[in-house]
Amino acid sequence: MHADVVVVGGGCVGASAAFYLGRARVGRVVLVERDRVGSGPTARTVGIVRLHYSHEPLVELARRSLERFVHFEELTGRTADFTRTGFLLLAPAPELEGLAANVALQRRLGVQAEVLTPEEVARLDSRLDLEGVAGAAYEPDAGYADGYATATGFGAAARQLGVEVWEGTSAQRLQVTSGRVVGVQTSRGVVSCSRVLVAAGVWTAGLLRTVGVDFPVVASREQVVQLAPPRSFGRLELVVEDLVLGFYARPETGGTVLAGVLEEEPEQIVPDPDHFHTGVDWEFVERVGTLWSRRYPSGAQAEFRGGYASLYDVTPDWQPVLGPVEGVDGLFVAAGFSGHGFKLSPSLGEELARWVCGQPPTVDLRMFSLRRFSEGTLLRGRHAKGLLG
Ligand SMILES: Cc1cc2nc3c(=O)[nH]c(=O)nc-3n(C[C@H](O)[C@H](O)[C@H](O)COP(=O)(O)OP(=O)(O)OC[C@H]3O[C@@H](n4cnc5c(N)ncnc54)[C@H](O)[C@@H]3O)c2cc1C
Repeated sequence: MHADVVVVGGGCVGASAAFYLGRARVGRVVLVERDRVGSGPTARTVGIVRLHYSHEPLVELARRSLERFVHFEELTGRTADFTRTGFLLLAPAPELEGLAANVALQRRLGVQAEVLTPEEVARLDSRLDLEGVAGAAYEPDAGYADGYATATGFGAAARQLGVEVWEGTSAQRLQVTSGRVVGVQTSRGVVSCSRVLVAAGVWTAGLLRTVGVDFPVVASREQVVQLAPPRSFGRLELVVEDLVLGFYARPETGGTVLAGVLEEEPEQIVPDPDHFHTGVDWEFVERVGTLWSRRYPSGAQAEFRGGYASLYDVTPDWQPVLGPVEGVDGLFVAAGFSGHGFKLSPSLGEELARWVCGQPPTVDLRMFSLRRFSEGTLLRGRHAKGLLG
């Protein structure tokens, strides 16, 4: 069997790319997903959609993606369940300069964002205890969306455009001859093709290894807790990321919140991404509960409503690898999103589709090459916590 392009991985990134490849009418496109579309870490994303980044291409991708989240139904005929809440990034004094530089970058690119003083933050939400907060970045248009709905929305729309979506099908090996991709061996047989996009999250490393390419990524188990603050607290309205205490929270249905930690190191590296504890640890619940209560004292005594753990695919500089793999013509990669890839995926899919088809992307993504790791030119964001990008 022959395809013009094979996409491996039906998370939000692969499904988005497949959709845009379908729209570009590039011939026979096959999306290979070993499980179900959207069933991997994408289904477990907290789904925060903010535009605060240190690198211009990421702000631009996030900006364009936000538009697509808002207009997802017009684009795909489905919902991504985007909820606009506004986003607040609380910072201690040493982070203020970087925060202001990022906001200036955002504004230059047409993003609505501003730097707030603690007094202005208090006006946004008077329930916040602002101990240690020297200032904040605020984006009124940000919010959160649903990872599973986004991936399956793109997947279903891709199907309608003629993309073949092979669920329950594993890509087992890439096939390369004379430095060129010639096919993918899958659990359904070999698909011959000259262009392959691997968007297989943390599993990307294993697949690239089949053609001798080293992809430096670790699987980090990351936990998320659902808390129900007391009724007297009311609802959390904003998405909040807190660089002072090192945690984040966003509103969830029924007046609850989803919360987790922001750290400088991966939370827990797991040796085998197919076997790890997907529940939440009690110590983690207590830790997040304490951070939440310090920031929102009137929300203290929140009830534990559940939680889960999933995987970040963390690279050495917490930035993704995007684009062609040098030395293997026709092979492209989009992985290593290090816990912040969901918000980029709607527009990134279009850029990847262009690139795979031989057209340059409209956002300059060259800084995200795989080569940077062997050359030692790692990317550095303006915040200490890599997850911020
Ligand atoms: C707990 C948590 C919270 C997060 N919160 C946020 C957030 O608030 N905002 C944000 O922007 N990002 C967030 N992220 C990150 C974001 O969810 C990810 O960056 C994004 O979902 C990655 O999508 P993906 O398509 O690259 O990979 P994945 O979702 O990992 O999809 C890869 C797919 O490839 C498939 N696959 C693997 N190997 C093969 C194979 N050999 N053959 C066929 N198929 C294969 C897998 O089954 C999987 O479906 C969070 C992540 C987690 C885990």
